[in-house]
Amino acid sequence: MKISDCLYAYPWRGNDNNCNSYLFAGVLKGNRHVVVDPGHLVTPAYQEPGLERLFSEMSRDGIDGSQIGLAILTHGHPDHCEAAVILRQEYDALTALHEADEPVFKMLGGKADLFLDEGELSFDSGKPAKLQVYHSPGHTPGHVTLYWPEQKVLIAGDCIFYRSTGRTDFPGGDARSLQQSVARLSGLDVEWLLCGHAYGNSGILKGKEGIRENFRFIQSFFGSGAL
Ligand SMILES: [Zn+2]
Repeated sequence: MKISDCLYAYPWRGNDNNCNSYLFAGVLKGNRHVVVDPGHLVTPAYQEPGLERLFSEMSRDGIDGSQIGLAILTHGHPDHCEAAVILRQEYDALTALHEADEPVFKMLGGKADLFLDEGELSFDSGKPAKLQVYHSPGHTPGHVTLYWPEQKVLIAGDCIFYRSTGRTDFPGGDARSLQQSVARLSGLDVEWLLCGHAYGNSGILKGKEGIRENFRFIQSFFGSGAL
């Protein structure tokens, strides 16, 4: 599914838990692609082939999965980054995530090639895209979100979902940090909110007003102490 310009969304449609994946097509040298959160290689409960399905959905958009040159991980949980290990091994794709989530990623056999932190991340080969990386801890200590100001797109990982947020009861989770991360992101001008999971809807929200309303809804939970 094309979101805008070179950005595609692949919401997970299986029965098992897996994340939504997003792709910036042709933004690297040699017309290679950047995937955000490639997800599970194979899902743990029902053995659904996550990466294989992602590749076949991409091919329907005319995108060759073997040409992924970089996997950006919003955080180090297996349902977001297990397939990055294979992308690196089989297709020489580099892996980028925040340093604070590297220990968990390493436990999956992953290796980081570059660390993400606050600041600009630009792809300027072929189709240019200038992203802003926000360190958005809470769900995990090294969670990042990606904002693309030009297209008003926020890739939110497991920080923000439709009418909920990522949980904070896993190791390294912290509800107060999550609240601060959400508060900070709520100030951005967002037309597309691309969430890490399809909880409650596809995880893809379009339209400034609805997205603002979603932020308000979530923040009212923080206020009530329910999260
Ligand atoms: Zn997670």
